[in-house]
Amino acid sequence: MSKKKVSYFYHSDVGNYHYSSEHPMKPHRIRMANELIKIYGLHNKMQIFSPKIEQFGVREMTKFHSDEYIKFLKRITPETQDQFQRQMNSFNVGEDSPVFVGLFDFCKISSAGSVEGASKLNLGKSDIAINWAGGLHHAKTDQASGFCYVNDIVLGILELLKYHNRVLYIDIDIHHGDGVEEAFYTTDRVMTCSFHKYGSGYFPGTGNIKDVGYKDGKNYSVNFPLDDGMDDETYVKFFKKTITAVMNFYQPNAIVMQCGADSLSGDRLGCFNLTLKGHGECVKFIRSYNKPLLVLGGGGYTIKNVSRCWAYETSLLIDETELPNELPIHEFYNYYTPVYQLHLEPLYMQNKNDTLVLEKHFQEIYENLKDLIPSPSIGERFRPPDLLINESELETDKFLNEKSDFRFTEEQFNSQIRPFNEFYESPNYREKNKLWVKKSIVDILEKYKLESVFDNKLLESFNQVENLKNSNSNIMTNNNRKNIFQYNTETDLSQIMKKIRK
Ligand SMILES: [Zn+2]
Repeated sequence: MSKKKVSYFYHSDVGNYHYSSEHPMKPHRIRMANELIKIYGLHNKMQIFSPKIEQFGVREMTKFHSDEYIKFLKRITPETQDQFQRQMNSFNVGEDSPVFVGLFDFCKISSAGSVEGASKLNLGKSDIAINWAGGLHHAKTDQASGFCYVNDIVLGILELLKYHNRVLYIDIDIHHGDGVEEAFYTTDRVMTCSFHKYGSGYFPGTGNIKDVGYKDGKNYSVNFPLDDGMDDETYVKFFKKTITAVMNFYQPNAIVMQCGADSLSGDRLGCFNLTLKGHGECVKFIRSYNKPLLVLGGGGYTIKNVSRCWAYETSLLIDETELPNELPIHEFYNYYTPVYQLHLEPLYMQNKNDTLVLEKHFQEIYENLKDLIPSPSIGERFRPPDLLINESELETDKFLNEKSDFRFTEEQFNSQIRPFNEFYESPNYREKNKLWVKKSIVDILEKYKLESVFDNKLLESFNQVENLKNSNSNIMTNNNRKNIFQYNTETDLSQIMKKIRK
């Protein structure tokens, strides 16, 4: 296979966020995957970026989510949640998707990586972008669901749609990709294709084969329902058949793949029996189409298998020759007890998937696909401005020098509540931020040929911010830095954008 330009997004804070001791979702798994990627030397074959979370917030998230919901996520803390019971219920935040320290920043890391990855593909700067912290496919417009709060996938696809007429979304998490399907259920510009366990009340309960989309989106949602014990051979066979048909009939210009690792054998919440080989074969197959490709994480609750899987799939995406099966000794080596190897053996369990039933499902999907207009197109249209954040810088040095502060066993880790890490503050951050704000405002004014009616107000607010910054010269806390940032971007810029849209 050909070599490709691969961008890898990783934020060094991501492993510090902690849902709760008992909660199966452990962001630490992403740090474990990253350590494997490093110890195998895969970082040398990719461009490494740290998502710019300082420049990503309410404005970017509300391109899909409701203002009220995102403002709530930003505001809520474990200390104040008792005062927000009504909103907690309405936004479905609480039990499955709890409030934890740094929740909003965690959402920013996940979303910024996916959107920046999409932007790299848009501008032709990468062939493949990877964000293992993304893939949170259950989040809805104004509701959290299944450990997901902000739908980074929908935000990433929206970014891709600025440059690509047709985007294909593929989901190999064991759960149905309901949030993404719902977002694009009535459009033909995105085809969603989810392979998942369906039935017996398995979460989230949606994803019936008969759910095919609606109105303009009719037959642009594909659902392949599966049963317990799914093995590599059967999964790969039906995955390839279905995707071949989807690619032939839809002809997407870009692909987003969610690689949830809870479809692996032995997952704490899953019930399939896939190994890294089967799961990875699907990734390899999608890569072989040579389309701009955004690769995201997702579920995965036996964390040592999640890290194995995503490190292995990173190697497939950069076309690295076979990784040694013996895991190199590294910081989290002890997690991999008792078998210190990369690959998994399938478990002895019954595959409840009857090939004849799967064949029938495939035929039904094929019948719907074959009547599609091969490649729906759109005419000349207004293209929204590109992602309004600074171009990410190569973060290789920082990435290599990163030292994880935590050296716990899984058990110890589970019993800890992590302190919320401070933001990374580069010495010239303030200067850059100032320039960025100025540039964004000027860009927007120029782009839309705005009259000076806004100028005075903008200048005034900009000066106020400058004064505030100067008065605090050496004591810029994270909080007032964030306030300043919001003041500039989320207030002024969003107001301007609203005026433009009118
Ligand atoms: Zn899942």
